[in-house]
Amino acid sequence: MFAFLRPTPPVHDPLEPPVPGASDEIKHTTCYMCACRCGIRVHLRNGEVRYIDGNPAHPLNEGKICAKGSSGIMKQHSPARLTVPLKRRPGSARGDGEYVEISWDEVFTTLTERLGRIRATDPKRFALFTGRDQMQALTGLWARQFGTPNYAAHGGFCSVNMAAGMIYSIGGSFWEFGGPDLEHARLFVMIGTAEDHHSNPLKTAISKFKRAGGRFVSINPVRTGYSAIADEWIPIRPGTDGALFMALIRELIASGEFDRDFVARRTNAMDLVDLDSGLVVGRGDSLEGERDVAGKPARPVFELLRERVADCTPEWASAITGIPAPRIAALAREMGETAMRESFELPIPWTDTEGVEHAGVVARPVAFHAMRGLAAHSNGFQTIRALAILMSLLGTIDRPGGFRHKAPFPKAIPPAVRPPNSWDQVRPMTPLGAAPLGFPTSPDDLSVGPEGEPIRLDKGFSWEHPLSAHGLMHNVITNAWRGDPYRIDTLLIFMANMAWNSTMNTAQVRAMLNDRDEAGEYRIPFIAVCDAFASEMTQYADLILPDTTYLERHDAMSLLDRPISEFDGPVDSVRIPVVAPKGQCKPFQEVLIELGWRLKLPVFTHPDGSRKYRGYEDFIVRYETAPGSGIGFLGGWRGADGEKSLVGEPNPRPWEKYAENNCVFHHELPRNMQYMRNWNRDYLAFARQAGFNGPPEPIRIQLYSPVMQSFRLAAQGRREGRQPPAHLRERIERHFDPLPFWSPPLEYAATDLEQYPLNAITQRPMAMYHSWDSQNAWLRQIHSHNYLMVNPATARAAGVKDGGWIWVESQWGRLRCMCRYSEAVEPGTVWTWNAIGKSRGAWNLGPQADESSKGFLLNHLISEELPLPDAGPGKTISNSDPVTGQAGWYDVRVRIGPAHADEPKEVWPRFPAMKQMPGTGIIRKVQAYFAGTK
Ligand code: SF4
Repeated sequence: MFAFLRPTPPVHDPLEPPVPGASDEIKHTTCYMCACRCGIRVHLRNGEVRYIDGNPAHPLNEGKICAKGSSGIMKQHSPARLTVPLKRRPGSARGDGEYVEISWDEVFTTLTERLGRIRATDPKRFALFTGRDQMQALTGLWARQFGTPNYAAHGGFCSVNMAAGMIYSIGGSFWEFGGPDLEHARLFVMIGTAEDHHSNPLKTAISKFKRAGGRFVSINPVRTGYSAIADEWIPIRPGTDGALFMALIRELIASGEFDRDFVARRTNAMDLVDLDSGLVVGRGDSLEGERDVAGKPARPVFELLRERVADCTPEWASAITGIPAPRIAALAREMGETAMRESFELPIPWTDTEGVEHAGVVARPVAFHAMRGLAAHSNGFQTIRALAILMSLLGTIDRPGGFRHKAPFPKAIPPAVRPPNSWDQVRPMTPLGAAPLGFPTSPDDLSVGPEGEPIRLDKGFSWEHPLSAHGLMHNVITNAWRGDPYRIDTLLIFMANMAWNSTMNTAQVRAMLNDRDEAGEYRIPFIAVCDAFASEMTQYADLILPDTTYLERHDAMSLLDRPISEFDGPVDSVRIPVVAPKGQCKPFQEVLIELGWRLKLPVFTHPDGSRKYRGYEDFIVRYETAPGSGIGFLGGWRGADGEKSLVGEPNPRPWEKYAENNCVFHHELPRNMQYMRNWNRDYLAFARQAGFNGPPEPIRIQLYSPVMQSFRLAAQGRREGRQPPAHLRERIERHFDPLPFWSPPLEYAATDLEQYPLNAITQRPMAMYHSWDSQNAWLRQIHSHNYLMVNPATARAAGVKDGGWIWVESQWGRLRCMCRYSEAVEPGTVWTWNAIGKSRGAWNLGPQADESSKGFLLNHLISEELPLPDAGPGKTISNSDPVTGQAGWYDVRVRIGPAHADEPKEVWPRFPAMKQMPGTGIIRKVQAYFAGTK
């Protein structure tokens, strides 16, 4: 019998009594099996993890844990763990999978020499892009210190439309930055969300909401995730949500069932717009009527909005969305009536920025939640602007029962962070002259040079995607390969699977990673990858840095980045290691601190050249955003004696305080600061002191966006200063509309919609977080492969059987997979789980594993670029929202048909099996059946 088949004692048996003499202990830290950041208790025996459960004392999850969270032990034991630094074997080709083990010293020497040379000559030739990490405050700081503009995290291919669309409208957004107040809501409308990043808390809140008698309506092409327990599911065609919102706005205005007082006082609805220039020229005193301003006609924003939606009847929206017109009209009525007639007041006195004292806070108990289903379309920015305006008409912004902000939001519209706007800010041996990412206020803030050429490799903040607040990671490899806008030298990728599920056009992008120029040199000369697991991406690396898991390192979920704030005040949290790093794994944070010093980046180095921080743990304690600012990565227990909150000199022992307090710091605001924060005098004064915001000015909701109008005027040649290139003028004029509008996704203009009649989308399952868990023995038993889910009527019409093998084709590619009938999808849409399918051998799975023989990836059918007229003659342009650069994942159109009976019963395309990496687990099959045994 093979040794690995012999029964071995389990790592733990929860029913076993404590073993005499064994050392049992419980350590607290923060989960990272998804981005929700629940508090967990890790139970150890003799220093080894026995099991993980939820921390009952943690404010976010109150003891709850999901399938992913409790499977963290299998992440520790995964045979896919990278455990040693590796370099591509000299003489082997990239993609061959030939690696040799090296020391960390060689890693640091290689990177210091290479990056030092780049920094001394042309820092933009180094690009750092990261995936779903929770340390962008550090990675962004590091890139800025290095001096490269080429930095971003995953947001551009995730949900930047949600962030930018909401922030440019109301000064805050969903998830970390705000959410639905289900404690006080009566009606909850969820749109374009299946499973999200606020997993356990939202499930708990929905459960309580429903038990209290609230009504939950889910609008989504697919009924999965949260929608499964909605009182009503309203199927909608993908990419049409904006049309629905426009019709709802129209109905509310027409019926008068909206919060007129809120709209007048708290938004820019009364601002007067010059009818010729579209510029705001003053503030009027009513929502209606034409004025004369300096001899020119001007009208209030509200009138322009009403005019904009005048033709957006329920019948108009019905033809686009597929929702019956009477249902749209009834939904608008229900929203308006619930907001206005089921309103109540909480007796919480507060004072607004005009000094007016209010005896209470008025509730508008209609809450919304929306996410990627709205965002991942090329029309998503304007769709989300429309949603923000719908919410504002209902008066549900930072009020009981509606949307509520979470610190550090709300922020000024837009927040006061700008990207670099000239080549002068990108200089050798000098930190970048601005933050790599930010929020432009006008064309003057764009990252373009004198000829309009993009400063960034991904063309973020260029005329192609001016408000790309999170960058465009999905175009990095294609642009670097093509040398457009320029060639780079070194690409450092941290925990992002850019050779598989995080990229579109998968096969070609993999080829680009391997491609050489005429001289035989790789077009992307050097690729370094830091990851904890052997993903599809690692095989394209020249250098591999083995990262730690979340149980092995310090982390900070910082107020400078993405904290876990609650509605009632700022909250940040930490991770504290519970076990030692496996093998030679090293946290990427430590790598950055070490490299920062070796490269003599100012923040990480004393003026005499000596090292400033021992490591990340020390950095978190002592770093301040500016010398003496008192603001650092953590807000808890600051000051020499730990008595200060949010602002104060570094406390030498914050880790102990966090450890004593469930790894969480919660600053509960006084009740008078908990609502109406855009206009709350006391809150805004506090926010300034805490470093969240600038001067305590009211943050008026922008129904009409002057920022958008400034770009439109430039496109029309009616604004001095920077002008867009000729081929982009029409595109900018069309999409930079200061009022929301609905237009079909850009991809439709390049698609024969009759040939490809179906929308194809993906959803993230509850039991897996993107590709992170394909190597997890427990979670693989829930999802080892996926199907294309098709409405039975659609499937039968295409001659496709339930469970049968089918071909799915877009104009960009084709794939073979299995079909599953589902009534829970509207007939014009097909869908599948995201990132279940794997390339053979990746994640150290056996070459015949379900994930690569039956699991598939929809990404093969999606193009990262489109041949649109906007691109210029004979060129392509990013498949993204023209405003923000958000990847248009959900715009692809497909057709389906049966596979021939003679065809192999396995997915296609198939790629050569990835070789096993040195240092990963030896027996791959063990991962399927016996992982977790000693
Ligand atoms: S919801 Fe996410 S953070 Fe919370 S327990 Fe599950 S995996 Fe962990």
